[in-house]
Formats: sequence, structure tokens, C-alpha cells
Amino acid sequence: MTHNIMSVRQTTIKRDTVLKGIGVHSGSPVTLLLSPSDPDTGITFVITRKGVAVAEIKANSDAVRNVTLCTIIGDENGAIAATVEHLVSAIRGLGIDNITIEMESGEVPIMDGSAAPFVDTLLECGIREQSAPRRYIKVLKTIRVEEDGACAELRPADSFYIDVTIDFADELIGKQQIAMEVTPERYAVELARARTFGFMKDVEKLWAAGRALGASLENTIALGEGKILNPEGLRYADEFVRHKAMDAVGDLALAGAPLLASYRSICGGHSLNYKAVQTLLADQDAWTYVEAPRRRQYAHAEAGAGMVAANFAAAKN
Ligand SMILES: [Zn+2]
Repeated sequence: MTHNIMSVRQTTIKRDTVLKGIGVHSGSPVTLLLSPSDPDTGITFVITRKGVAVAEIKANSDAVRNVTLCTIIGDENGAIAATVEHLVSAIRGLGIDNITIEMESGEVPIMDGSAAPFVDTLLECGIREQSAPRRYIKVLKTIRVEEDGACAELRPADSFYIDVTIDFADELIGKQQIAMEVTPERYAVELARARTFGFMKDVEKLWAAGRALGASLENTIALGEGKILNPEGLRYADEFVRHKAMDAVGDLALAGAPLLASYRSICGGHSLNYKAVQTLLADQDAWTYVEAPRRRQYAHAEAGAGMVAANFAAAKN
């Protein structure tokens, strides 16, 4: 396994690309324009009106406005980018540091409910290294957070690891756990394709409240009457916990830089993940910025990007 997530240099995509879909909460069509961006600019959402940029929102913890149903980031003037979690997860999962996402609507399209369409698009563009060194957030001591019976911790580590457990009373889900080092290859093959899920009774409540208007079997695993309602079934036997792990990659990316840490969460979700990020960043003694250890990485990163594409194509077949 290559460790190209420990790339020495920052990365961006090689060219512009357009992605179309619908917003899961608005139900409206959305077009995204993804573009390369300069070193040290991070993941930036640009909201446009009639082709003119009206707001710029950085995907970091200061910008988070709400994590109840999806992750919403915004600026001080009320502009928002909603449902950013799967796109941000794909960007971080593939080890992309700098990218601009331009959109007319305030909501990122849900696509198929997973990060795979974003991963496909980003890999089609290609990933290139930039001259600036990559900066990581190195966790220095254990941070623990709890919320409504869920708990999580971030511990010091030399790479980025996640260990996610879920435990649902519903026997269709039950108790599931996944633990892994998150490299771009493993992210694309083992996490990216896992879709979001919901119980029909909850979805019906959301619909009645005018939310989740775009939710359908095209973008959600629906559970009801003791069965999975999607005719195609599951993409992974434990797709539910893999989706939670994919979500966690995106939520932790809101720290603003890749983490050198081991993250463990039990029965958590967006809110708990975000709380872990906030608690970490608020404790000056708990983290520091470091540059990646200098190794023979340049050739690695190029080979790594190719491997991701190859593995991912194989996994889809
Ligand atoms: Zn999700």
C-alpha cells in the first residue's frame, strides 16, 4: 500500500469540469463547476447569481452553520452551501488540497447518495501536485467528545485512520464496524460507493416538513417494513457503516487541513464529528501544523492517482 496521502506537496485537479444533479433538500437541479485552485487556498465554494460570484465560503469549521440533516456552511452575510459533506469527503478522501466549487444554487447535488460520482469526476480530471508543501494538522493528545449517548475520540497517529461503529436497533442494520487507514486507494474502493440511508417513516416526516424533497431510491437506501426497498439491494454488505465512515472523512476535513490522527466514533454522525473537530481546534495544546516527512514521494503520488482510477474502475464492475 502506498502512503501517498502523506504527499509532501499540495495537490489540485488538472482542469475544470462540470457536474449536474439535484439538491436532496430542495429537489431543484444544480450545476457545479469544479476548478483547479492555487496552493494554500483549500476547498472553496463560490456562490454565483446569473454568472456573477456573490459569495465565497471556505470549507472549514468556522463556516459551519448547521449539521442536523446535512452539513451547511455559510458566510456572515447569509450565503450558504448546503449538503457539502459527500463532495468534501471525496476531495479529502482523494488527497486533493485546493479546489474551487462554483454553484448557482445553495445546495450541492446529492447524485446517487454516495461520494462515488464525485470521485469519478475528480479522477477523470486528474490530480496534479503543486509546488507548495502540504501542511497537516498533527494531533498531539487525545480529544474525547460525547453527545446523546454517542462518543468519539481523536488520538495522535502517523497517518489518518478511522474506526467507526454504528449500532441500530433495526436488525437490517444492527451493529457494524469498520476500521482502516484512509489512503486515496482505500477511500475510493472501500468507502466512496456507500450511499446514504433512511427509514421510510423518517423520510415521510421530512417530506411533510418540506425537506428531503429530492430524496428517492435513486439516492438513498430506504428501509421500511423490515426490508430494504431499493430493488438493487446493497453495494456492500455493511454499506451503512461505510457511509458513516465516508461522512466522517468529509466532516473531519472541516478542520481545514488533512489530519495526522486516529479517529474513533461510536454511534456518531455529522454533529459528533463536527464537535470533535471544534474541540480539537479549540485546544491549542492538542494539535500543531506539520509538513509531511520528506520521502521519495513525487513518483509515488503520480502512481497513486493511477492506482486509484484502476482500482475504482475494477470495483465498479
Ligand atoms: Zn452522508
